[in-house]
Amino acid sequence: MSDPGARPVPAATAAPERVAVLLPLPLSGAYDYRVEPGMALDAGDFVAVPLGGREVIGVVWGPAAGDVAETKLKPVLARLDAPPMAESMRRFVMWIAHYTMSPPGAVLRMAMNTPAALAPLPPRIAYLRADGPVDALAARAGLRLTPPRRRVLDLMEDGPSRAPGEIAREAGVGMGVVKALIAGGALVPIELPAGRARVDPDWRRPPVALSEAQAAAADALRTKIPEGFSVTLLDGVTGAGKTEVYFEAIAAALARGHQALILLPEIALSAQWLERFERRFAVRPAEWHSDLTSAERRWTWRALAEGHARVVVGARSALFLPLPQLGLIVVDEEHDGAFKQEDGVVYQARDMAVVRAQLSHVPIILASATPSLETVVNVRVGRYDRIELPERHGAAGLPEVEIVDMKLHPPPRGRWLSPLLHQAIAAALGAEEQVLLFLNRRGYAPLTLCGSCGHRMQCPNCTAWLVEHRLAGRLQCHHCGHALPVPRDCPSCQAEGTMTACGPGIERVAEEVLKDFPEARFQVLASDTIGGPREAAEIMRAIHDREVDIVIGTQVAAKGHHFPWLTMVGVVDADLGLAGGDLRAAERTYQLLHQVAGRAGREERPGRVLLQTYMPNHPVIGALASGARDRFLALEAEARQEAAMPPFGRLVALIVSGPDGEAVDRVARDLGRQAPRGDDIAVFGPAPAPYAVLRGRQRRRLLLKAPRKTNVQAVIGEWLARVKTPNSVRIQVDVDPYSFL
Ligand code: ADP
Ligand code: ZN
Repeated sequence: MSDPGARPVPAATAAPERVAVLLPLPLSGAYDYRVEPGMALDAGDFVAVPLGGREVIGVVWGPAAGDVAETKLKPVLARLDAPPMAESMRRFVMWIAHYTMSPPGAVLRMAMNTPAALAPLPPRIAYLRADGPVDALAARAGLRLTPPRRRVLDLMEDGPSRAPGEIAREAGVGMGVVKALIAGGALVPIELPAGRARVDPDWRRPPVALSEAQAAAADALRTKIPEGFSVTLLDGVTGAGKTEVYFEAIAAALARGHQALILLPEIALSAQWLERFERRFAVRPAEWHSDLTSAERRWTWRALAEGHARVVVGARSALFLPLPQLGLIVVDEEHDGAFKQEDGVVYQARDMAVVRAQLSHVPIILASATPSLETVVNVRVGRYDRIELPERHGAAGLPEVEIVDMKLHPPPRGRWLSPLLHQAIAAALGAEEQVLLFLNRRGYAPLTLCGSCGHRMQCPNCTAWLVEHRLAGRLQCHHCGHALPVPRDCPSCQAEGTMTACGPGIERVAEEVLKDFPEARFQVLASDTIGGPREAAEIMRAIHDREVDIVIGTQVAAKGHHFPWLTMVGVVDADLGLAGGDLRAAERTYQLLHQVAGRAGREERPGRVLLQTYMPNHPVIGALASGARDRFLALEAEARQEAAMPPFGRLVALIVSGPDGEAVDRVARDLGRQAPRGDDIAVFGPAPAPYAVLRGRQRRRLLLKAPRKTNVQAVIGEWLARVKTPNSVRIQVDVDPYSFL
């Protein structure tokens, strides 16, 4: 920092103007740049600036810090012709950077990850029919009036203007026909303003006939729209119609000229949601997820930034889209772990969505049948409102949940389905209804070992067993992707044909089903078997339309789907998530299994759920069977409160990693020695992470626990400043960790 008093101020000449520009790079802060005379810049403007011989796009962040010598100052090269970044968005970027302890530029990068959209979109060219009767037009173009050409000219008789592709599609002709008519002047081009191409969602259309409870909930949500920031939990059992209800809040926001943002945990699986939106609002919303083409990303980003697109639905990254007229945020399935981003800037999209709503002064709705404990506690202390939908829509009742004690009803040797579950499947199939078998484990078997020497097949890069995928004929690491063919002979003792698969994955359950119910049509549903969004949509359609009898799936089968014929859900291993010391193991297992159970009996036919367990007395299993959700949550909250664990206390994890174990250990030990001390602050570790090696990197963990009121960012900041870290070692800060691996 220079001392402003020490600098000679030249008389009469005003100091040249400077601004601070934040760049989308992990730098410590914004850099100063000179503004040449004649260039007018405001905070939020996108600008091109030089940086070490390159040209980089950044955002004018505010007045310059003034700590760079005049002579070293580089000029802003250009102001980009793009809608500036709103102040609320800039504050949001800073808020997240502070909270997650990330460089502001790293957060900014998420808010401008579509640089192509910062250049103006090329105008769209569309075509109109030239004046004159059909035969005259053809003659003038030197073309014979063939039936396809006539179809095009008839279609285009009185507008609207259409793009060539649309003309060909609607007239049912090839592109060649359209091109010839354009070349001959029978169709004439006009320029459409960029981004205006789509039609707005039509909020005036009547909604589905809402039940009394739904209508009351919709009314309550609608009143929030004009009232600025508020957080409302839409707490409704699975199948209650939460989506239909919050659609009315979206309609109310649109009616006031606002934009709406909807976050879903798994957008690739949201075909049904998109269809329902279209049924309600006549058009599809803009979508935001990793499967968009770069042209789609560019269009969507720009259309939202200019206010031409009104509603966007997306995965967590949609949180950073420009929405100048934002009027409502909805986070559906708010409890879902997929909202936590674990790489790069580590953030909880649900929590950050609340922050964005607050900074933008707009309401936010969190919807779930199994709200997170964080949200439940926020409701209890009055920070959040709650609107309840206690019953399923229409004639549907909640499914009956039965416990299958596996000690009393063991499956035959080498099998995974107990006789009770077997009978239930047969009964459902006999009634021509659908079955979902749920097991949250991909592949055929989670472990392969040698029957002779006990050698276990492990990933060379990770502390993890290799998972057999029998259909693919490979052993795979689910962490780093390492794969090899399934060995027949033991790589350790060379015994022949001794390698044995241990435990079930969904492929193995499918094998059993195929043996026992050879007539049944089945579909395996896991993240690695569904391909892209289009394939996923097709699978969902086939299940919906009853082209499948038995669905065998992992958690992707649990989420939000509505399958009218599905009446029977079998949970193959209800205990799977309960092992391990994870803070949220019970809560998460409850949420997941409750969601799975909620797929059963969503229409007239009653649903039935069987939970296979070796722990029939576990509180989670008990709560699932009795439906005593709120009592379970209350007990869980009590236990967390006693232990001063989140949401009653704060946790921050430090993950120290690097290729060299000794260097990693040294830093971890230093961190341990320099750990902050204080009355209510505790630091656990360093300890090898459960995945002590991941993708070839050694990993150690430390965990800081502090009271809610503690400014953990300040504590961590001071702590990290006390420890020297070589370049080869990385310390990742995870504020509010969800994963303890
Ligand atoms: P939730 O999200 O609460 O689990 P959904 O919104 O998916 O419930 O609704 C469950 C099913 O019931 C969906 O197929 C939905 O279209 C239907 N549904 C809900 N409410 C109504 C209604 N008022 N009229 C007609 N269908 C409804
Ligand atoms: Zn691996």
